[in-house]
Amino acid sequence: MQTHWVDGHVDLTYIALGGRNILKECSTPEEECISIPDLKNSNVKTIAGTIYTSPGDHVLGYDSSENRDAAFSQGKKQLDLYRDLHTQGHINLLHTNQEVPPNSDALEVILLMEGADPIRNIDDVAWWHEQGLRIVGLTWSVGTRYAGGNNCKHGLTSEGKALVSALDAHNILHDASHLSEQSFEDLVSCTDTVIIASHSNSRNLLQTDSQRNLLDEQAKEIFNRGGVIGLNLCTMFLSKTFSKKPQTATINDCVEHIFHLCDLAGNRSQIALGSDFDGGFTPKHLPIGLKHPSQLPTLLQQLQDNGFSEDELHSFAHGAWERLYKIN
Ligand SMILES: [Zn+2]
Repeated sequence: MQTHWVDGHVDLTYIALGGRNILKECSTPEEECISIPDLKNSNVKTIAGTIYTSPGDHVLGYDSSENRDAAFSQGKKQLDLYRDLHTQGHINLLHTNQEVPPNSDALEVILLMEGADPIRNIDDVAWWHEQGLRIVGLTWSVGTRYAGGNNCKHGLTSEGKALVSALDAHNILHDASHLSEQSFEDLVSCTDTVIIASHSNSRNLLQTDSQRNLLDEQAKEIFNRGGVIGLNLCTMFLSKTFSKKPQTATINDCVEHIFHLCDLAGNRSQIALGSDFDGGFTPKHLPIGLKHPSQLPTLLQQLQDNGFSEDELHSFAHGAWERLYKIN
């Protein structure tokens, strides 16, 4: 089946600032698969484009979470790049306060902040919202000033709890991918609003202690609140060996995670794609037969062969995110 896609997690500016020309089609398929033309030519209409930062990251890091200005400037650098791409007509930045009219044929981008340190304090939230920010994950794996990440034991800090309320006041959605178990629990007790996991799979299927993927109870909490879970395509989060090695995951593994999550949801309308394509790992770490977004129809075919109806396929490819993000 041919249809358009919404991808719930793509590190577009991280990739660009890492040195790739994202305006040019990728030419070394072993090494890279994401650029604006690669996405457009693969019928990806919209992405949640990240503003990813983390202390110590070699591309977009800062010395410590306490250095608020340094974290802000790393986040702002990515916002500026998205805004430039919009001004030049290469993307259509959704919800932006920019005066340049949108190019309706361009790749749509909704802003997702992965790691909240660039929000210097709760008074910054209104400004970020004006810039188009609509989804925030409080932390990447190593933790931020606001929350413990999936490599941490601790939960939300008091500043983190205050930030959750400020985000709620601006209707900014919470992304639970990368939260520690304690952070997840704290988030759930701090807010009644929708929580998503933009790029996470089932921890129960993976049979690992790593907090990076979702326990069944966490997935159910997300579904009960009307949230959506985006399937991550990194082999490490698909194969039961929990290995990032090439060729350790297949499209069947993707289908298995999707079906498990659908069973927990009790429906097939709250699972979607959150590929994480190419963000910090190469196509070698993508499933066999799914090394490039142009191969996404193969995943749909496999879901159809396993009983997904046409409506359910449309929901997985784009509808689930579109309903939640109120786009289209
Ligand atoms: Zn991530």
